Amino acid sequence: EAKGAGRGVAKYFSSELQTEQDDRIRLETDLRGAIASKQFHLVYQPLVNAKDQKLTGFEALIRWNHPQRGFVPPNVFIPVAEESGLMPAIGEWVIEEACRAAATWPEQISVALNISPKQIVLPALPNIVSQALGRNKVAANRIELEVTEGVFLGDNGATLDVLKRLRSLGVGIALDDFGTGYSSIGYLNKAVFHKLKIDGSFVREAGSRPENVAIIQSIVQLAKSFRMSITAEGVETAEDFERMRDLGCDIIQGYLFGRPLSYDRANQMVLGLGAKRMAG
Ligand code: C2E
Ligand code: MG
Ligand code: MG
Ligand code: MG
Repeated sequence: EAKGAGRGVAKYFSSELQTEQDDRIRLETDLRGAIASKQFHLVYQPLVNAKDQKLTGFEALIRWNHPQRGFVPPNVFIPVAEESGLMPAIGEWVIEEACRAAATWPEQISVALNISPKQIVLPALPNIVSQALGRNKVAANRIELEVTEGVFLGDNGATLDVLKRLRSLGVGIALDDFGTGYSSIGYLNKAVFHKLKIDGSFVREAGSRPENVAIIQSIVQLAKSFRMSITAEGVETAEDFERMRDLGCDIIQGYLFGRPLSYDRANQMVLGLGAKRMAG
């Protein structure tokens, strides 16, 4: 009886696994054609200065509009792209597209983009970035590359070398999602990061968990001692904003100041900034 039930469960799980695997293979197949058939686009989330709440730039985030499934979130398709070797090509598209957008905006507007650990291992990455900057005539200091500490997992030393070569191009390098995963203060001491981004889950929990405030306080102090600037991600409420500003965060990102926007809407925001500046 028990044995029979056990087999039933095993069978149920294996067929579910099978379906999951089929789904993954389909996603992978569909991803292969997605660049060529222009199914990706970038959206741009506003970054504001904590002091005056003015726009300082955007984080570019990839979106995949699948012809049948519709919107597939990056947290779903990026792991598939990474495992199937497609991430370098998709990542290169992101770099080019983000530089193209940056070229249309004033020099005080920065554009951040995410780099996958699967791109960091490519010795060609600094060249790819430098060529995209050159083609689009964008100053390196307007582009910021966001990496997570995942880039150091299984590292053989090559990662730090690529990061240093990127840094010497003049692009900024931010350590993303700090406070989740394996976040180690050892990473702050690598001398390649100019910015630390405190993860949104951590920022939002700070309201209900006072011990997070103490942790954030010491992270901020430590980062400042390495002359890094600090961004608070996932700021959704006025309380989140005030707390993070008072804790010393320099840049604020989150739904409170804006969701990721289409290029056109981001552009309107930039134009509004210009109009205000000219009037004032
Ligand atoms: P991330 O780099 O940490 O990006 C921030 C994520 O938090 C984005 O999710 C953004 O939409 C979301 N977010 C921003 N403000 C708030 C807020 O106030 N509340 C909440 N709940 N969420 C907020 P998204 O766009 O779904 O991206 C998820 C992750 O996928 C990114 O996390 C990044 O790791 C990855 N990703 C996105 N675009 C790219 C890309 O072009 N290349 C690579 N390699 N990874 C990307
Ligand atoms: Mg990011
Ligand atoms: Mg992040
Ligand atoms: Mg995050």
